[in-house]
Amino acid sequence: MSINDRILTPFTLPNGVELKNRLLMAPMTTCTGINNGMVSPELVEYYRVRAGSIGAVIVECCFIDDKGLAFPGAIGIDHDDKVAGLAQIAAAIKGQGSKAILQIYHGGRMVEPELIGGNSPVGPSAIAAPREGAAKPLALTGEQVDYTIYQFGEGVRRAIEAGFDGVEIHGANTYLIQQFYSPHSNQRTDHWGGSRDNRTRFPLAVLDITHSMARQYADPSFIIGYRFSPEELEEPGIRFADTMYLLEKLAQRGLDYLHFSMGYFLRPSIVDTQDPAPLIEKYIAMRSAELARVPVMGVGGVVNKTDTDMALEHGYDLVAVGKACIAYPDWTDRIASQQTLELFIDSTKREELTIPEPLWRFSLVDAMIRDMSLSSKKFKAGVFQEKVQTDDDSQPVINVSLETDRITDVTLQPDASLDVAFVTSFETIRSRILDANSPHVDAVSGATTQSESVKKAVAKALAKSCKAQILEEGGNPAASQNYDVVVIGSGGAGLAAAIQASDDGARVLVIEKMSGIGGNTIKASAGMNAAETRFQKLKGIVDSKEWFYQETLKGGNYKNNTVLLNRFVEQAPLAVEWLADRGIELNDITITGGMSVDRTHRPADGSAVGGYLISGLVKNLNKRNIDVMLDTSVTEILYQQGVVTGVRVLNEDQEQLTIVSKSVVVASGGFSANSEMVVKYRPELAGFVTTNHKGATGSGIALLEQIGAGTVDMGEIQIHPTVEQTTSYLISESIRGGGAILVNQNGQRFFNEMETRDKVSAAIINLPEKYAYIVFDEQVRLKNKAADEYLARGFVISADTPQALAAELNIDPQTLQATLARYSGFVEAQCDSDFGRSSALRHPVNQGPFYAIRIAPGVHHTMGGVVINADSAVLDSQNQVINGAFAAGEVVGGLHGNNRIGGNAVADIIIFGIQAGNQAASYALR
Ligand code: ADP
Repeated sequence: MSINDRILTPFTLPNGVELKNRLLMAPMTTCTGINNGMVSPELVEYYRVRAGSIGAVIVECCFIDDKGLAFPGAIGIDHDDKVAGLAQIAAAIKGQGSKAILQIYHGGRMVEPELIGGNSPVGPSAIAAPREGAAKPLALTGEQVDYTIYQFGEGVRRAIEAGFDGVEIHGANTYLIQQFYSPHSNQRTDHWGGSRDNRTRFPLAVLDITHSMARQYADPSFIIGYRFSPEELEEPGIRFADTMYLLEKLAQRGLDYLHFSMGYFLRPSIVDTQDPAPLIEKYIAMRSAELARVPVMGVGGVVNKTDTDMALEHGYDLVAVGKACIAYPDWTDRIASQQTLELFIDSTKREELTIPEPLWRFSLVDAMIRDMSLSSKKFKAGVFQEKVQTDDDSQPVINVSLETDRITDVTLQPDASLDVAFVTSFETIRSRILDANSPHVDAVSGATTQSESVKKAVAKALAKSCKAQILEEGGNPAASQNYDVVVIGSGGAGLAAAIQASDDGARVLVIEKMSGIGGNTIKASAGMNAAETRFQKLKGIVDSKEWFYQETLKGGNYKNNTVLLNRFVEQAPLAVEWLADRGIELNDITITGGMSVDRTHRPADGSAVGGYLISGLVKNLNKRNIDVMLDTSVTEILYQQGVVTGVRVLNEDQEQLTIVSKSVVVASGGFSANSEMVVKYRPELAGFVTTNHKGATGSGIALLEQIGAGTVDMGEIQIHPTVEQTTSYLISESIRGGGAILVNQNGQRFFNEMETRDKVSAAIINLPEKYAYIVFDEQVRLKNKAADEYLARGFVISADTPQALAAELNIDPQTLQATLARYSGFVEAQCDSDFGRSSALRHPVNQGPFYAIRIAPGVHHTMGGVVINADSAVLDSQNQVINGAFAAGEVVGGLHGNNRIGGNAVADIIIFGIQAGNQAASYALR
């Protein structure tokens, strides 16, 4: 028999059960569990359609204890009430003719407290996983260890009751079973820890109880598999020889298969990176005759039959298939019929492929989705050549290959003179463009300018081909294009509006005058304020919308438009969920000046919110195939007989075009970068730097004024207290919110750092030197990714001790040290008797290295702008609605009163962006 036939022919497991072939669907998280881990009907269907020709389906891991779930939307087997739902999955799989195996696990110390009601996770020892923000687990007592083994047994009993053909014990992925075997996470001194033999006890006990349950409740055909991670990076940690030791012991007790957990089935060691030999080869060479009797399964990167054949050649007996089974439910039939498959998912086919919504948004699937719905674009198929405009004179040439509906390739014309760095970053940006089927993708970090120029060249090629297609069809490329909704500006407000309008069924165009998407939003750092959110609840933070309202009002000196403020506060938690539903999770929470509660939502890793937000919104834009025109300014909003009818634009080639639309959302941002306008309203701000991007010129205000819009609060211009002056780079409030202080050139604190921006700025301007230092220690840096960016940009002065830092800053060392000690005392007492700081008294400033950045205020935000009603319709100077004109974001005035609170701008743009998009769409589609 040729190796080619072997993969598709029956295979008998040690317990005598025959699989119809050697292929299994790998256990994969779907995040689709509902009501604390119950099975939803769509999950049953997901498994039903994937069963059939494949030998077995290993159903995703089920937690055996309600403190053991390692990700949101996990399904459970921790209680008898879960059996009925799981039984439906088992029946669905078996009904199609595949064996149904269920994976069981406990996440141990990898469980995040917020998933288990804010409780501490548990583990063999009280040692946190070596990853940022990992919670320190509680060490299980001896009695609890026994109970956990019992729970594994109960899980097996329930799996049998649910009708599964077998279970797979999840001893991998650094979950609890692996934690017991690991010398890093298990430093117990009882018989469960210490020596390697002691550490094998827990995995062996779980296997023993599995056998015992199978003997009691199932027949001998019940399959028992075990999944393992061959190595871990921890020091000390499990090495391959340790794994072989454990596997030998497991094999002695009897197993039907062993399942490597790896991202690629031929992966070499991750510890000994000098050794290129695939681990499976080592496994085959090292295993005993007894272990060799247990079939071994490979997983990772299997897409085509050539992959399965290669896996068998290397010694695997069975092959598990992951992502390919999501993308192709009938994957086995396809490879049996010799199809060659590409690993991507057509963006229009979620329902057809029976992929549950939460899985669709899961990063593993998200990365495979390719937008196939470009019906409106219709490229002319062929290869289009463009020059990439680089900073030097090299001008590389790219070839963009297009089918009528998608980008099929982007290649670089061979050129020996090209910079290696360019060629390397090109490969990354190329694959991002192909995956997204769009030039609007994240730039490669460290190669932003190059990425932007490649993106631009691809966008030009697409535009050329669109034009060519229109000409070929006998059309006129200069003729007006028609949309339901035109959005002016591609910052957070514009993108949220465009996505919402598209979701409401409108045909949407985004017009952006700059050459990249993101506006000033991309520079936003702190986060998004919202009260009473799910993420706050998960972290046990008590907050109220009323407090949020009152504090924003107080921060704005009671000048806020309370109608807008009410809407803002009410909608904020919904807007956080709107983002999460679109894959943009802001689940880490900090605080900003003027707020009394942690309510500033930011990305999980504590990084700046702006880049993350724009990247996520652009992915959503691409998925919906929303048209974007870059380097195109709106020069006029067309308004005839009392209604908006479209816009006039000027593009990069200086062509004037008219776009017809039924409504317009103006989301053009503020005017901080228009110094003439700033000085017109606030003469004393002449000469101030601005933190804003160049596009913040206030042109949207002028466009709307031309059609009669009223304005409000134009003189309310915020200066931000902490701006690095040589680069105008904003030092995020989250640094102070994370525990930093401000000191003057004498080395002394001079104000409550957590006061509102206007007051802190005034205090700095009142210092004789007119600048200050923001000072923090290693504890603050570790929790705030932004700090690393400041370090990388060279703003930060650092030193090992406060004295050395003082010397660098030309400050008296004793004074600085006394200041830090005094402040640290206030942290201990949670009371600042000098300046009354009452929030973010987080840690004593006492862990080196110590850091300082010299800062002074800069123009940051314009609170004034056009007038809207609570539904985002633009009002004229008589407070009458201008039909078809909507506005959102910084272009609008009134919400923030005379001082905007940190974290309220991002909330503003998302909340009102969504609303404006929704209103503009419903107006257009009336
Ligand atoms: P917000 O925070 O309110 O979303 P941003 O400053 O992030 O505002 O984004 C506004 C965007 O609008 C910027 O990218 C800016 O370049 C763009 N913009 C401003 N005026 C125009 C215009 N007349 N035509 C097209 N785009 C514009």
